[in-house]
Amino acid sequence: MYYIDPHIHMISRVTDDYQRMAYAGCVAVSEPAFWAGFDRGSAAGFHDYFRHLTEYEPKRAAQFGIQHYSWLCINAKEAENVSLAREVIALIPEFLHKPNVLGIGEIGLNKNTRNEATVFLEHVELAVETNELILVHTPHLEDKYKGTRMILDMLRSDRRVDPARVLIDHVEEHTVKLALDAGCWCGMTLYPLTKCTPARAVDIIEMVGTDRIVVNSAGDWGKSDPLAVPEFIQEMKRRGHSEAAIRKVVFDNPLAFFSQSNRWAKATPPQWGINGATTAPVRETAKV
Ligand SMILES: [Zn+2]
Repeated sequence: MYYIDPHIHMISRVTDDYQRMAYAGCVAVSEPAFWAGFDRGSAAGFHDYFRHLTEYEPKRAAQFGIQHYSWLCINAKEAENVSLAREVIALIPEFLHKPNVLGIGEIGLNKNTRNEATVFLEHVELAVETNELILVHTPHLEDKYKGTRMILDMLRSDRRVDPARVLIDHVEEHTVKLALDAGCWCGMTLYPLTKCTPARAVDIIEMVGTDRIVVNSAGDWGKSDPLAVPEFIQEMKRRGHSEAAIRKVVFDNPLAFFSQSNRWAKATPPQWGINGATTAPVRETAKV
């Protein structure tokens, strides 16, 4: 079964991971801008990172027939430094014309601080002004419920934000309904130990259904598995879910959300139709 991994940090993965993901049916990935495993010392470090996400990584993915998309921002962890964050946000418009950019993300909160909230709102302002999709990181562990509520309140307070163009990521049992009820899309991040395991993700699907929900592997600097989405597919099959239901979560839903981006539409050949892609998607390597 073809699948899309809508949230994976390929910059922290080796090339062999692309190969194994392609063997497992991965046809596209989207990579939000995030923490690099260390705090960067200047806005110039982010400029190089954005070039990596928009110029180099699409070419590496294309070698394996995988389309690579990205999202741009300064992550919540480094957003604690508001002056640095403002310098980085000022760099983003220069990259918004790149063909693989889907929007602004993963913005959000880490420790739910005032500075993080300030930078979150400035990212939302940029997204609204430039008509970009938004991908949101929610905090982990004990900060998640409060942080998710804070994020949804901030989004609701701006009438210009269309929740159907926002994906709230890293949802778990106690936050998934908050995000769905707000009209947003939801992402479940599958981690081998912490966060949501594939089995827990299937439990959540059985609780809330398959509308406006996607699963991803994160595949970041922490202990994570770039093949977590195929593992989720196996768990869905094992429990007797239909192929159509599985495909909706791992392919149709991310495609439907991403296709709201103007650049996705331009880059997408006809066989990527939302109602039945049966042939391998092909896209020329991003023109840079
Ligand atoms: Zn991430």
